[in-house]
Amino acid sequence: MRLAEQTWTEIAALDRDTPVVFPVAALEQHGPHAPLFTDSLLMGEIARRAEERLGPAALFAPLQWLGNSHHHLDFPGTLSAEPRLYIDLLSGLLENFIGHGFRRLLLLNGHGGNDVPGKQAVFEVRQRHRQRKDLLLLFGTYWHLTDRASGCHPDLREPELGHACEWETSMVLRLNPSWVKGFEKVPDQERGRPFEPASRGWTMPDRSVQGHVGEPRHATPEKGEALFQVFSGGVEEMIRRMIAWDGQSWNG
Ligand SMILES: [Zn+2]
Repeated sequence: MRLAEQTWTEIAALDRDTPVVFPVAALEQHGPHAPLFTDSLLMGEIARRAEERLGPAALFAPLQWLGNSHHHLDFPGTLSAEPRLYIDLLSGLLENFIGHGFRRLLLLNGHGGNDVPGKQAVFEVRQRHRQRKDLLLLFGTYWHLTDRASGCHPDLREPELGHACEWETSMVLRLNPSWVKGFEKVPDQERGRPFEPASRGWTMPDRSVQGHVGEPRHATPEKGEALFQVFSGGVEEMIRRMIAWDGQSWNG
């Protein structure tokens, strides 16, 4: 069910063990061919499909589209919240629903730059309520919630999600082909191996002149549909695990 369509009296009547899901994404450049709203469009569609399957078993907040995208600010159009402000925004959303009495909360992420601040938000909120034993605070990025994506379509070329890559471009094509421009002519951009397993600070111009990482020319709407199915399935499975949690165990 969708938070935006409920009355406060309906929320007040809900079982407080109902999982509450906060989809979060971004508005940032996605190469010369894909729209700035790509991450939000994709996260919105994946959340929409998961919400439809779960029905009254889970409560979905509207998507928070402003994310942490400072590494893309060299490209015009990108919008980004200051990192500390963004951590506090996400923490505040969780605090609001803890205040309403809910205990099982998920930040459902659709943008790589939100990974660090999103995990920091659930970490900080947990420490603030450290006397509680009944809180389940999760951060999950949709492409990490399933291991079936790379095999979901026989013609997929890329092994994992990049940026404005075959996978993302395919999903935007599935939503609306007119939102993608000239992807067939965009040159491939390798991922590289920057000092792994260390984590290197980076800006997008360090990696890509045109702003993408991957091979968008292989995108098709059929691949996009297959990806949407496995990604929304992975989200649904994680939320069903939240529902099945016994309310106190570490494992789940
Ligand atoms: Zn993206």
